[in-house]
Amino acid sequence: MQKSKILKTLVWGKEVSLAVLDTTAFVNEAISRHRFTPVAAAAFGRTATAAAYLCSWLKGKESALSVTVNGGGVGGKICVSGDGELNLRGFAENPDVTLPPRKDGKLDVGGYVGKNGTLTVVRDDKNGLPFTGTCPLVSGEIAEDFSAYFLTSEQRPTAVALGVKIGTDGKCLGAGGVFLQPLPGADEKTLIRTETEIMKFPNLSSLIQEKGAEGVLRGIENADYYEKEVRYRCFCSREKTESLVIALGKEDAQSLVKERGNISVHCHYCNTDYEFDEAAVSALFAAKEGK
Ligand SMILES: [Zn+2]
Repeated sequence: MQKSKILKTLVWGKEVSLAVLDTTAFVNEAISRHRFTPVAAAAFGRTATAAAYLCSWLKGKESALSVTVNGGGVGGKICVSGDGELNLRGFAENPDVTLPPRKDGKLDVGGYVGKNGTLTVVRDDKNGLPFTGTCPLVSGEIAEDFSAYFLTSEQRPTAVALGVKIGTDGKCLGAGGVFLQPLPGADEKTLIRTETEIMKFPNLSSLIQEKGAEGVLRGIENADYYEKEVRYRCFCSREKTESLVIALGKEDAQSLVKERGNISVHCHYCNTDYEFDEAAVSALFAAKEGK
């Protein structure tokens, strides 16, 4: 399968920033890590695709951001974190929820997410206080919610299309996004043009599946573009987890492991469990004391 990626360029007399993302491989990686049901995969995939777009604006490699969609739906919260290198990871609180499809046959992402809540973005450029932007959800369908976020929290009107298509085997067949963001100073006509253009992508996931991100981009304007890979990457490790166990202190760690048989540390972002049995805990503290 092709790598997930973002393509960016300026279109329409360089008045509008266009980004097209293919996140099919990314969503499949998330499905295999979290065992998402189709509707959970679609909700997570749309959120992560928008998060990847936001990450593409981060100023440095060290910069990072997190997106939380908390709509009060059956799926619970969706959280995605990423950095300026477009390494992203995340989770949905209830990955195993199934819902009947909507009347139009599409996955009921709005039902999974809910719409009584907020979309929050925390962006940390590693100089000074992190920026936090929050806006109320519009529909829980994610694209409209991000569009509202860009307008109200970033004062950057942005036309957003997102799509995730899941096959009968539970795998993602096509996933991605289109973002049209007029540059500052663009006139009303340009804004309307972005809104009209974005209406052409009600079935974006099928277009991504058929034409890829390049094909979708060239369908808007045949422009040269910048390309960067988007990866599912978590930075947890056994080593980092060991330091958490050590932070418990020898006495507490040992009594915990006696009580429960082992100490288990779970990383929500990649759904990995790190287990420490009595021998492992003893070895950890022995190594620490030996230093
Ligand atoms: Zn992890």
